[in-house]
Amino acid sequence: MDSGLRTQDSGLDVALAIDLGGTRFRVAAVSPEGRILERSDHLTQAEAAPEVVIAELSAAVAEISGRVGSAHILGLGVAAPGPLDPDAGIVYWAPNLPLWVNVPLTKLLSAATGLPVVVGNDANLAGFAEARCGAGCGAMNLVYLTVSTGVGSGIVVNGQLLLGDKGAAAEAGHMAISRDGPLCSCGNRGCLEAYASGTSLAKRAREAIAVGRPTTLVAEGEGLDATHIAAAAEAGDSLAQELIADAGRALGLGVRNLLHLFNPSVVVIGGGVSHIGPRLWDPMMDVIAADTWDIYRQGLRVVPPDLGDDSGLIGAALLVHEGRARFRAPRAASRQRGAER
Ligand SMILES: [Zn+2]
Repeated sequence: MDSGLRTQDSGLDVALAIDLGGTRFRVAAVSPEGRILERSDHLTQAEAAPEVVIAELSAAVAEISGRVGSAHILGLGVAAPGPLDPDAGIVYWAPNLPLWVNVPLTKLLSAATGLPVVVGNDANLAGFAEARCGAGCGAMNLVYLTVSTGVGSGIVVNGQLLLGDKGAAAEAGHMAISRDGPLCSCGNRGCLEAYASGTSLAKRAREAIAVGRPTTLVAEGEGLDATHIAAAAEAGDSLAQELIADAGRALGLGVRNLLHLFNPSVVVIGGGVSHIGPRLWDPMMDVIAADTWDIYRQGLRVVPPDLGDDSGLIGAALLVHEGRARFRAPRAASRQRGAER
């Protein structure tokens, strides 16, 4: 789409944004309302050193900058995977980017692009975008879950993105929903992710096969994944149906906990596994309906996302538009005082 004329000479404030994934990265110029004006899509060199990837990010940002003409560029927002410190701009580690350990992303990207840079966790920012201009448009309190290879989340409380003291809040996938449940990728037992992620569904199916449970899934061998389980469930396989229903009930429990903590008006549930549909959603909604106090269910909407793959990109841009200073100032000031003592 040639949208160059729309942004050239418009005098518009735009934010640039990067959504960095292990397979590909996207770059965009985004309006204050969260409208994508220009965009480009690239493959990520996942096995390369962070400096190599950052040089590519920077080149893609320069190319998008060129396209927005005289529009005023406010800064660059980055949706990055994995645990990170949004204040310090450091990515601790990133799933699918094996060489990314304690990368000072804000500093490196700012030096490479000359722009002010802000960084956030991708699922956090996806939730932020859904609250601002997606499925929960205008919601002051929203919970977003993405159920995919893992379970990520983003939480908006009183209109603000919940970050926590170290910027690591809203890891709803690692809420324990049972004490002795299945082992999670994080090393703990009974996490929501250990029941509901695509990876966990496949792992639990393999474990059932290993103990001799009859299922058509045995034919998939090592390549068995959540899409096979969804298809087998549709074809009547009882193990597949059980695993999906169990994942749905686990999600229902997770949502119930989150409702009691955050009292959102909207719960957005996305990600590849959420597309399984009623086999997953019905048991989830049953648990929410049966076990949650009325007050939390009054006016509550539990809905799929609106922004699709663009939510992280839009959320990163909205961080820039809405101003990063309020996230950073108090802690930066207290650190400074600590350093002076
Ligand atoms: Zn976990």
